[in-house]
Amino acid sequence: MVSSYDFDLVFIGGGPGGYVAAIRARQLGLRVALVEKEKVGGVCLNIGCIPSKALIDRASKFNALHELAAYGVKADLSAFDYGGIQAFSRKAAEKLSKGVEFLLKKNEVETIAGTARLTGAHEVSIALNAGGERRISSFAVVVATGSRPREVPGFEFDEKRVLSSTGALMLKKLPRRLAILGAGAIGMEFAFIMNAFGVEVTVVEMLERILPMEDSAAAAVAGKAFERRGVKFLVGTKAFSLDRGSTDGSPLVLSLGTAGSATPDARLEADAVLVSIGRSPNIAGLGLEEIGVALDRSFVEVGDYYETSATGVYAIGDIVKGEPQLAHVASAQGEIVAERIASILGKQTPESGSHASPQPRRVDLGLIPSAVYCEPQVAGFGLREEVLKASGIQFNMASFPFRGVGKAVAIDESEGFVKILTDPGTGAILSAFAVGPEATELIHELLLAKSSELLPQDIFSMIHAHPTLSEAVKEAALAVEGRAIHT
Ligand code: FAD
Repeated sequence: MVSSYDFDLVFIGGGPGGYVAAIRARQLGLRVALVEKEKVGGVCLNIGCIPSKALIDRASKFNALHELAAYGVKADLSAFDYGGIQAFSRKAAEKLSKGVEFLLKKNEVETIAGTARLTGAHEVSIALNAGGERRISSFAVVVATGSRPREVPGFEFDEKRVLSSTGALMLKKLPRRLAILGAGAIGMEFAFIMNAFGVEVTVVEMLERILPMEDSAAAAVAGKAFERRGVKFLVGTKAFSLDRGSTDGSPLVLSLGTAGSATPDARLEADAVLVSIGRSPNIAGLGLEEIGVALDRSFVEVGDYYETSATGVYAIGDIVKGEPQLAHVASAQGEIVAERIASILGKQTPESGSHASPQPRRVDLGLIPSAVYCEPQVAGFGLREEVLKASGIQFNMASFPFRGVGKAVAIDESEGFVKILTDPGTGAILSAFAVGPEATELIHELLLAKSSELLPQDIFSMIHAHPTLSEAVKEAALAVEGRAIHT
């Protein structure tokens, strides 16, 4: 079918949701436009995943430098300039954003620089960055406008001393003392970076533990490692208010108290505060409600194939209600939409090929990897133990420590474990978690096993090279049957 619209598919937002899906849609032969008001690559490439990982890498190397002191290696840090490290992270982001620009061009996605607004289910009005307005029509429109750091009353960002993650990524000089509100992945990653470069870091978390969305034992291992390096955690603690002092040179004073209490009973001085307590979806000015898109506390409600309550309008990425705000989730959702539209318009899709597989309606939440890139790394997928218990789901648990893995000992990173939860009846993998060296890479072997419905025995019967960190995965799979070797 050839639609009579200007395009088959228009994406609003060129983050990992919009740009990946736009390329996929072109591969499937659709006529595609992508509207981006800032830089393609979105938050992830420009002010999120990529620059933060560049800083984390430099922070790890800086820590390693100190470790060599034990062998008499003395580093001359007199010319050390954090500004150079920050500039490196910006270069990495710019390189990748340029790379995405190139990919969009190569795939003949029409990229339009401007701010888009829906004026009907099939109509988009664009305030062009170059000036003027352009109106386009499309068979389907995908809203992929992402999210921004959530503000807390009293802690409004000035991006000099009261920072969002964006402000923290732009710092060229480091504060002496940094308070971080929120011990989720973003807060922990910045705690790791700042601590490595000598900043005194205190992390304030309302909930009773750090990394509340990760496996609790894995979070505990990470927490201990951070504490050993000097990071302070105040869990079960609420930040009530912030006194910014009379001048920019005055210390910031946070009033803190036990979470749940009505009044503060402690104070914390800092030179900067990073507020990393979550992200709010970008829906303002898009005209969503006017065309009948149902929202729930600013998140977009979606059904099968990420279609909203307005037929022909889809939503993916950080703005979607009830799915994790992660780059790879945004991309996976986008690919589902692209394939759906291609199949409606009669184009070639995976399910029409010789290796036919049914088109997924939604991302399988049990197969989404989570990853925290500090040291030690934390990763996992599937339901956590406490959630399985609360849901009355039976499971067996087996884990294997990195201290039993030759490579981990050899590189002196033997803290942590790989853990597998299985169904006691069928032996199927329910979920898996890891904390330790390269945990964010290792988790994928287990995820492939689960998504391919392989059993732990399929993992351990495969020969793993020695010495590798992957042997932790093999040993954890052996441990499921009570036959781990190096324990
Ligand atoms: P975004 O990446 O937010 O992109 C949306 C785009 O839409 C933006 O470019 C914006 O300019 C554009 N836009 C908005 N409104 C309009 C409009 N009206 N018209 C035109 N364009 C518009 N996730 C991970 O998976 N791994 C990580 O390691 C990771 N690290 C992170 C570290 C930090 C510091 C932060 C802040 C986030 C991190 N994330 C990470 C989260 C990840 O960045 C997001 O989940 C991801 O970027 C969401 O993708 P998206 O496509 O939904 O939107």
